[in-house]
Amino acid sequence: MLLLERFSFGVGDRFAHQAKAQLAAFQKLEKDGIHVAPVWNKSNREHTFIGSEPQSVFDAAQAAVKELGWTQHWHIDADHINLKTVDRFMSCSDFFTIDVADSIGKPAAPADVQAFLHRHPELVGVLNIPGVATPFSTSLADVERVAAKYLLAAQDAGNIYRHIAAAKGEDKLIAEVSMDETDLPQTPPELLIILALLADEHVRLQTIAPKFTGRFNKGVDYVGDLVQFEKEFNDDLAVIAHAVRQYGLPANLKLSVHSGSDKFSLYPIIRKALAKTGAGVHIKTAGTSWLEELIGLAEAGGDGLALTKEIYAYALEHVDELCAPYASVIDIDRSHLPSSAAVNTWKGLKLANSLRHIPGHPEFNADMRQLLHVSFKIAAKAGRRYTDLLKANEEIVAKQVTENIYDRHMRPLFIN
Ligand SMILES: [Zn+2]
Repeated sequence: MLLLERFSFGVGDRFAHQAKAQLAAFQKLEKDGIHVAPVWNKSNREHTFIGSEPQSVFDAAQAAVKELGWTQHWHIDADHINLKTVDRFMSCSDFFTIDVADSIGKPAAPADVQAFLHRHPELVGVLNIPGVATPFSTSLADVERVAAKYLLAAQDAGNIYRHIAAAKGEDKLIAEVSMDETDLPQTPPELLIILALLADEHVRLQTIAPKFTGRFNKGVDYVGDLVQFEKEFNDDLAVIAHAVRQYGLPANLKLSVHSGSDKFSLYPIIRKALAKTGAGVHIKTAGTSWLEELIGLAEAGGDGLALTKEIYAYALEHVDELCAPYASVIDIDRSHLPSSAAVNTWKGLKLANSLRHIPGHPEFNADMRQLLHVSFKIAAKAGRRYTDLLKANEEIVAKQVTENIYDRHMRPLFIN
């Protein structure tokens, strides 16, 4: 079986120019004695927005691996796929994020729900799971309600999983099941039932991405109750370890944290929990490197700075249209967005400082950062003009990309 490493970190590379700079961060961490497997992820939605093909992600990663002499494993994640979209990823991915969030809450066959309840009497009552802070107490009606809510999603996951396994071979794929793109978080007792449902479907999942409590906004820190998150995260780890034993799921099954970039206040909590339990984690980040490209271009000055200002001005004029698809994952206070006339007078360093995620920095502007995070379509429209500037300013851009991943993400997550 193709096994995902204990620690893995997903990076996105919207314009396929930063794979080398991203991989350099993993190499730095390797020098610190910590092995984290790189996973390049790109969703079907993102390919559609940019007009790219899944094969380009593999090609860019492979070129970076060769150039930097990376000898460890690396993976390509077909991110947030379903039965309709997975086929174009089949030949160039080994990691599949099976997104079944849309089926949550949709009615399943009542007979299937009853059959599940009959198979799983162990889910009812007081559940003493080692590592769970307060034992779960569930009634038959609770289990029935949760099973009914998630059964169709689990069956969907089974169908997609079998479709991929038939094409690739079950031992040549890493499966993740994602449920994060939905309204309500999944609690640890729900996670246990979901894992039992997936085990019954024979999905050999190695990571699961629940929706956690609190807001995981794109490109900015976590917004929510840290004490509650810590309890939930630790309970989830205990539930996963238990489900592995109880239901025979893959022994390396671990949590996947989506929208995991920039969640600086969560990293110490996650690091502590992993050290305490020996659990692994997958952190999935996506748009971060695109923002680092803008920061690098702003700092470079000249044409790079000019285009960054143009992108901002355009984004400001189209703020409704750009933000609409991301309403549940951004919170922009528009009164904090400076006018484009003002930004046009800024030096490159000021623009870079406004976007670079250093929370205490006096010039940091989380609202501008979120707006530009969702504005990558504007750069896609600029086409060669944008990517030629990336090439011309490769060094300063790469420095931002590597530093951001290594210093602000990997070190706090895996070192201190
Ligand atoms: Zn996700």
